[in-house]
Amino acid sequence: MPRAAPPSAGSTAAPGGPTECDALVIGAGPVGLFQVFQLGLQGIACQVVDALPEPGGQCMALYADKPIYDIPAVQVCTGRELVGRLMQQIAPFAPGLHLGQTVDALSTREDGRFALHTSAGRHFIARTVFIAAGVGAFLPRQLALDGADALRGLQLHDRMPAPEALAGRQVLVVGGEDDAVAAAVALAEARALHTTNPAAHPADNPAPARITLLHRRTTLSAEPALLARLQAMLQAGHLQFQVGQLLALQAEGGRLHTAQLIDEDSITHTLPVDQLLAFLGLSPKLGPVAQWGLALARRQLVVDAAHFETSTPGIFAVGDVISYPGKKKLILCGFHEATLAAFAATARLRPGQPVLLQYTTTSPQLHQRLGVATPARP
Ligand code: FAD
Repeated sequence: MPRAAPPSAGSTAAPGGPTECDALVIGAGPVGLFQVFQLGLQGIACQVVDALPEPGGQCMALYADKPIYDIPAVQVCTGRELVGRLMQQIAPFAPGLHLGQTVDALSTREDGRFALHTSAGRHFIARTVFIAAGVGAFLPRQLALDGADALRGLQLHDRMPAPEALAGRQVLVVGGEDDAVAAAVALAEARALHTTNPAAHPADNPAPARITLLHRRTTLSAEPALLARLQAMLQAGHLQFQVGQLLALQAEGGRLHTAQLIDEDSITHTLPVDQLLAFLGLSPKLGPVAQWGLALARRQLVVDAAHFETSTPGIFAVGDVISYPGKKKLILCGFHEATLAAFAATARLRPGQPVLLQYTTTSPQLHQRLGVATPARP
């Protein structure tokens, strides 16, 4: 799947300056991706920003390998397959993808365009904005313990740090889902490789000295193949598994050295820890979207069901983030909303020009935009 791309056709960026574009889509969930497609059919290039490191929204973050049965004309596909197909479908329009960052600020400029700033320091100036923010930006759940904030990024991580940070260290991985199990297994396998054949492991990438996986229950919710690898590492002694919950972090001179935890029999333990990986799952935060002065009803953006425009003209919203009479939080409803929003935005971007309905089957102009040859007439 494409990761980040440079500004595409239809956008400009001075070095270090803002990226100017006709359309900016906030959210690369299924509806945001289809928004890119519908705008592409209209000849409008997009920039897309998402908090997650990969596109797909809820489909990838919550049910990547589970089946979906109600996408029109697709009998069944997984969340991952649907996202893969949407990415293929938008490929001809080469959107700029800016992943792993949230749009934190959105304001209207004097010239009527919109200024947007992301958590990664990017700045966009867009003529239209499409909010496809779903249930909010998916961000890692934070460990809430005294002293945790001071350790973040140094000895406490919610994403895998560089291997050097863990070399020869006492590593505690907290969590019971795929991310946590995968991290513990990967570290244990690196340790196994290092132990059995140190020459095969480059000196600049040595393994942790000890790895403990901590989860509050004995059952872990990860893929069977991953659980089998975990079992092998536990049996070989490259990994310890502890049932319990973190109680406190003990640091001296700002340096974490011990974690205190309580097990299922209410017995407290102390564990030497140099590096703590807290992979506690993702939690959606509507956060900034609710602070942009747009009309809200029960924390959903209010739109009209003909144009999918918010209370600010030029800012459209589609998918799970919106509310209108009869709204259903389904992917196919989001696809419909994105289609009408694209037509409405085209009328705004090209005032005075008719916005014609064209069929992808027969329109040479759409074939050109899609990069497919126009079929010969029978
Ligand atoms: P999302 O998928 O939520 O994507 C929104 C994206 O916006 C996220 O990636 C988020 O990180 C990003 N974002 C939010 N705010 C910001 C910001 N400020 N800056 C940057 N990025 C931001 N629907 C069906 O039709 N059929 C099904 O079978 C089905 N099964 C489901 C099963 C489960 C377990 C769940 C939880 C949902 C299911 N759904 C199903 C619902 C479907 O997943 C949602 O309707 C759909 O994902 C909504 O798409 P979206 O693009 O609007 O939002």
